Amino acid sequence: MNRNIISILIVSLQIFSAEKANAQINVNEQRIQTRIDELARFGKDSLGRNNRIAFTKGDVEARSWYMDLMKKAGLEVSIDYAGNIIGKRKGKNALLKPIAFGSHIDMVPLGGNYDGCVGSIGALELITVLNENNITTVHPLELIIFANEEGGTVGSLALAGELTSAALAQNTNSGSTIGQGIKRIGGDPDRVKEVKLNRGDLAAFLELHIEQGGILEKEKIQIGIVEGIVGIKWWEITVQGFANHAGTTPMDMRKDALLAASRLVIAVNEAANSFEGKQVATVGKISTEPGAPNVIPGIVKMILEVRDLSSEKIESVFKRIQQKSDSIARSSGTTISFQEQNVNTKPALTDKTVQDAIMRVTTKLGYSVRYMQSGAGHDAQEMALICPVGMIFIPSIGGISHSPKEFSTSADMARGATVLLNTVLTLDRELK
Ligand SMILES: [Zn+2]
Repeated sequence: MNRNIISILIVSLQIFSAEKANAQINVNEQRIQTRIDELARFGKDSLGRNNRIAFTKGDVEARSWYMDLMKKAGLEVSIDYAGNIIGKRKGKNALLKPIAFGSHIDMVPLGGNYDGCVGSIGALELITVLNENNITTVHPLELIIFANEEGGTVGSLALAGELTSAALAQNTNSGSTIGQGIKRIGGDPDRVKEVKLNRGDLAAFLELHIEQGGILEKEKIQIGIVEGIVGIKWWEITVQGFANHAGTTPMDMRKDALLAASRLVIAVNEAANSFEGKQVATVGKISTEPGAPNVIPGIVKMILEVRDLSSEKIESVFKRIQQKSDSIARSSGTTISFQEQNVNTKPALTDKTVQDAIMRVTTKLGYSVRYMQSGAGHDAQEMALICPVGMIFIPSIGGISHSPKEFSTSADMARGATVLLNTVLTLDRELK
């Protein structure tokens, strides 16, 4: 072969490989939809309703179906002591920490087919597309399906080293305790502490998820980049009045605990609205004693919940509610007290570098995008204790979630999976 022909061959080879590197690799929208539909078949109760609660038969069967697909995609699959499913794919550099991604396939009682499922099927699609395009990343990859997300992000709590023995003894909607449930899905509750990861054990963690709210759909935006997952704090409020005869006690001589509580519920709403920002405050549970039509309510107990991306903001809203409660108590002749509850999750911020990678990828793909916060809890918030995390949201039609009416279109799921795939590839190139 003469030298000219050789150099022509080399140049064309270079052009070919450059084109291959730049070529857009595509997820398969139809395959994503088919797998979402297949997953939806698992966990139906006797009335045909969605009840794939963690640790139940449906959860066990769905996990085994999913693990089969992972194995078919060439992943090295294992279940850790907390019951998390881990699928590993080798990278070119075994010394690098893995880039992880995933979600959950358990659901709340009478739940929907998209919460957790979109991220789980999207993660599987990522691996499938890499296989189809013969791509080996530099970093090793890890696909994680977390155990019992809906019962308190159990699997990711264990990875963060925060799953306590007390939590293992708690009852779940499956009828068994968390510890018993972990055993049923192939974990070992006695060794759960051993799954703890240290900061830096993963290069990054990404989760694709449905928004579970109505902002993206309302604003006709295709992708949400999550800035953080809100912290949640609960207080029990006790309003103490005086139970007395509802017929013989004149209106000006009453200490009506429910009347004072009603004013306080309005004050909670006003307090949350009196700050700039996206904080929310809710009274979602209330009970009254003695609870008879002919007795003025003597005691009211209710639960106050405040959520925000900043712990300080949560405390500020609470302080304002407390101030308002003082004047309500004075004017109604009642006493109002607040008792902190054991629900007190810290806000978790996603990583700026990961956010930035998602933004560049999404913009390059030509999808509309906005930053937003997550008002719901996710495994990514526990993973933030271990490594830089990012979350990608797609629209929830009607803003409906935790309901059989939950729905996202196949086009939106495909866009989400495409962003997940390309963000992993971008981080693979850029993370040191
Ligand atoms: Zn979820």
